[in-house]
Amino acid sequence: MCRKLGLDAIEIALVYFDVVGQTESVLVETHTASALAVHFEDQCERFIAWARQELEHRAAIAFPHADFRPGQCALAEAVYRSAVSGRCLATQAPTGIGKTLGTLFPLLKAWPGQRLDKIFFLTAKSAGRQLALDALTALAARPLRVVELVARDKACEYPDRACHGESCPLARGFYDRLPAARAAALGRPQLDRASIAEVARTHEVCPYYLSQELSRWSDVIVGDYNYYFDSSAMLFALAEANRWRVAVLVDEAHNLVERARGMYSATLDQAGFNAMRRGAPASLGKTLGRVARSWNEMARNQHETGAEYMAYAEPPARFLTALGQAVSQMTEMLGE
Ligand code: SF4
Repeated sequence: MCRKLGLDAIEIALVYFDVVGQTESVLVETHTASALAVHFEDQCERFIAWARQELEHRAAIAFPHADFRPGQCALAEAVYRSAVSGRCLATQAPTGIGKTLGTLFPLLKAWPGQRLDKIFFLTAKSAGRQLALDALTALAARPLRVVELVARDKACEYPDRACHGESCPLARGFYDRLPAARAAALGRPQLDRASIAEVARTHEVCPYYLSQELSRWSDVIVGDYNYYFDSSAMLFALAEANRWRVAVLVDEAHNLVERARGMYSATLDQAGFNAMRRGAPASLGKTLGRVARSWNEMARNQHETGAEYMAYAEPPARFLTALGQAVSQMTEMLGE
């Protein structure tokens, strides 16, 4: 703007707008055109250096040859063909055949030709994650970057704090220390839980959020199903937003049915609801009362059948309407 308008200096304002109080807080700084030019060039140079490093990393990925066990070759071929044709494949193979290696290897092979950006290896249990990490080590496909995602409660260093700078010291200044932590992490061959924790500790950043950041710069991401299939899945959102071409491996996929039920089902607990209702603002009293009444009515009808549980042919309309009204009123109130 300085260059375009021929200005020697410019005042830059950052304006915070408080939606509730309808007030503005303005932070103003004056910068000279020459200082801004230096800053701008510095930013561009950092970006170019990073982009160049990433391009070189891509070009350097080469894949080893593996010796196959009986049956493993047919599995690998099927996976390779489905990756090349962009189709889904469900496979079943006996224990001991080496499924993890037999599926990761062909995807790595297909990688350059299919211009894949990432491979997601998703598991139901942490034991499956370890198998994938071991297989990737065995393939020794360096300089492949492999990152392991673990649940927040397992990675967190301060479980009694909230994830913001005022509460957790590892969140405070996170983005100031992130570039150095990221650079140090990417120098390691494998970023499993222990390795990420070590880098995070050295650079005093949160290991959980560091692993999420590293997902953007990794080739293979090993994590739980929920990172891709949950209704707020981080990997799915990143893949969509960045238009990544991804290959998704779902280990022990029979578990996905049960897990998906959990991910896409909501549970309402009547005791919890009643506790919430007692502390709710008076303006919500009527709507919440309606939910409670239709809930009791439903429970009464169910109780009369004597059954422990009941599957309904249709969603209970009265209850759903009451619930819908309560949710929209609560949303409105929180919005205000
Ligand atoms: S920022 Fe990280 S370390 Fe801090 S509370 Fe959240 S998850 Fe835990």
